[in-house]
Amino acid sequence: MLTLPVKLAIVLPCYNEEETLPITLDSLHSNLSSWINDKTIHPDSFIAVIDDGSNDKTWQIVESYKAQFSDQLKGVKLSRNYGHQPALLSGLFTFKDQVDCVITIDADLQDDVSVMKDMLALYNNGFEIVYGVMKSRASDSFMKKNTAHLFYKLLHLMDIDVVFNHADYRLTSSKAINALEGFKEVNLFLRGIYPILGFKTANVFYDRKERVAGETKYPLGKMISFALHGITSFTISPLRWIFYAGLIIFCANMIMSAVFIYAFFHGSTVRGWTSTILSIYFIGSVQLMAMGIIGEYLGKVYQETKQRPRYIVEKEI
Ligand code: UDP
Ligand code: MG
Repeated sequence: MLTLPVKLAIVLPCYNEEETLPITLDSLHSNLSSWINDKTIHPDSFIAVIDDGSNDKTWQIVESYKAQFSDQLKGVKLSRNYGHQPALLSGLFTFKDQVDCVITIDADLQDDVSVMKDMLALYNNGFEIVYGVMKSRASDSFMKKNTAHLFYKLLHLMDIDVVFNHADYRLTSSKAINALEGFKEVNLFLRGIYPILGFKTANVFYDRKERVAGETKYPLGKMISFALHGITSFTISPLRWIFYAGLIIFCANMIMSAVFIYAFFHGSTVRGWTSTILSIYFIGSVQLMAMGIIGEYLGKVYQETKQRPRYIVEKEI
């Protein structure tokens, strides 16, 4: 059976990347050309830059490279800065119908471009999603490494399924992107959505490098809000914990009642203390449980408003 090489789009979200973009575009373009030459990918494959509302020369750089790379470069300029996740999504949705699969990669080349070939080989073997997974974060700062680990642990604790040490470097087939389109939620956390898409998935491993130039566009503040976002967009467990906290205090109150009432009848307590202390715990636990019950309903509303697809079809015959 004759199979045509895959048509690939490499999507680069960029926010104020004037320092890195020329280096990245030159490097990616030379890879693209060599993969076209050795027939790994289709000649109509291209690089797509998503300018996420940069206020530096990012877009001018895209325009100037367009003359040089012609059809092998496409660009999308968003009307303002929407953030990394919406920028990725706009790239996936804009180009999915022009190609067989899309690889998303950060513009700073911290992720190893050479493993794209492994991703493509896996795609050719029927994998719809291939995750780039960092073997080590040696180049990341102590702070970044540890906060990232803590974040993954926390997500795990809350039953949110994410691929450990995977950022947004991945291959997605057009089929999987079409499935992704069914997720209409505004609060995007793609790393959480991907695992619930299903499909055949695989991992490729690489060492994370230093940024080629420029500074991180994810300072601590943005990272914390991204983490909170990831959690609150994916789980209602904190709401459920309120009920459990109430239940635990209620049970503890039952035991305390037995002990304190025993002490009361043996006359070893100050008058009025037993009834006061027991009613405080009793009312407290009942209130927490009541809030937890409201939380359960709120959680349902939250899940319903997301209108996530109830199922995704992989194949039909
Ligand atoms: N980025 C973006 N919009 C933003 C912030 C970041 O498109 O609001 C892009 C940025 O240009 C880069 C990628 O997202 O290509 C990852 O950002 P960065 O490398 O700064 O994050 P880090 O690797 O430090 O976590
Ligand atoms: Mg980076």
